[in-house]
Order: sequence, then structure tokens, then C-alpha cells
Amino acid sequence: MISHALNTDPDECCGILIGDTDHAEEAKRIQNTHPTPIRRYEMDPVALARAESEADAKGLKIVAIYHSHTHSQAYPSQTDVNNAVQSWWTEPYYVLISLVEKNRPVVRAFRISEDFTVTETPITTDGDQYIETTRT
Ligand SMILES: [Zn+2]
Repeated sequence: MISHALNTDPDECCGILIGDTDHAEEAKRIQNTHPTPIRRYEMDPVALARAESEADAKGLKIVAIYHSHTHSQAYPSQTDVNNAVQSWWTEPYYVLISLVEKNRPVVRAFRISEDFTVTETPITTDGDQYIETTRT
């Protein structure tokens, strides 16, 4: 997820985390099809639908939607909140990766509810993932 963000920088990357309840098994990269990817993201609907049915076939679901902020903090923007509510995707967590400090990416997770409230959820990542993200 973090390497995806670094590879896509300065554009925003996006994708989903597949798993069950509060545990993510795997990250799936989804193409950012927004015309202004440096500031916004929009998941390719075909790839998203495919990823969703693949998860379904394994008895898993989309537990989180992630995207990067290359020039701002790891916090949902007003646009992110509006999109989440308007698209009805309020069940998954929203994971934000900030690349403001490229050698120290920040990852935070949030819930965005139908009343536009943003609540942070503490997350843990495994050690391997951190090593993968370390860049010199
Ligand atoms: Zn955003």
C-alpha cells in the first residue's frame, strides 16, 4: 500500500483492502481514473467491481478503501468525506497515506459516517510492511 503510494507519487494512488471484519488480508491496487490525479482519486469502476467479486468468491469483503495524499496530511478531505457519503461507501474504513514526508509516510484509518462525521480508528501494520516501505 505504501509502496503503491510512493510509486504513484506525485499522483494519488487508490485501492482497497480485502479481508473480514477488522482484519485486512490483502491490498488490491485500483487504477486512479480521476482526470486530476495529483489532487483527487476515483477508482476505476470496472477494476473495483472485479476486485469486489473476487473477494466475494473467497468469502471476503472490502474492509477498507485506501488512497494517498501526496501533499497533505493523512486525513480525509472534505471531498473525500462528501464522496464517501454520496457513494454510499460508508461501511469500509478509509485509509489515508500521507507522503508529506516521503521517507516517513504516515498511514491512518478513519470511519466516515452518513452524517459526514469522521472518526479515527487505531491500526497496526506488520513489520514486513514497514521494511518494504523504508526508502533511502
Ligand atoms: Zn483524499
